[in-house]
Amino acid sequence: MIKINKNIVNKAIETAVTSNVRRGKVAAVIYTDRGEILATSCNTRFYREMGSGKFTIHAEEMVLSKAYKMCLTRRYNNLNMFVLRYKRETKSIAIAKPCEKCQILLKNWDFPVYYTTEYGIERLK
Ligand SMILES: [Zn+2]
Repeated sequence: MIKINKNIVNKAIETAVTSNVRRGKVAAVIYTDRGEILATSCNTRFYREMGSGKFTIHAEEMVLSKAYKMCLTRRYNNLNMFVLRYKRETKSIAIAKPCEKCQILLKNWDFPVYYTTEYGIERLK
């Protein structure tokens, strides 16, 4: 069974609850093997001024863009990502398996990715 440091899990919950997506608040945290938290993001819904457009940027996409700007892979060789989904109504943790689009993005990054499920934590890669 995969265990994630409690500080990382708490930080992910804290980040997820700030999401403006009503259902399915997701957070992605990049941290080192030693438990140092380097970047956090939640999924974010954007509303276009004109027309009917609404779109959501996933937590993984947001945190990867931070990681890119911060040159994290050049500065650290012991990175990990943890993705957590928080259901506000039931205050419970749910499945946060990255979608296909995020999985394609994550293939370009050379670090393990963990995500929550109702039953525990799984490793994507
Ligand atoms: Zn996604």
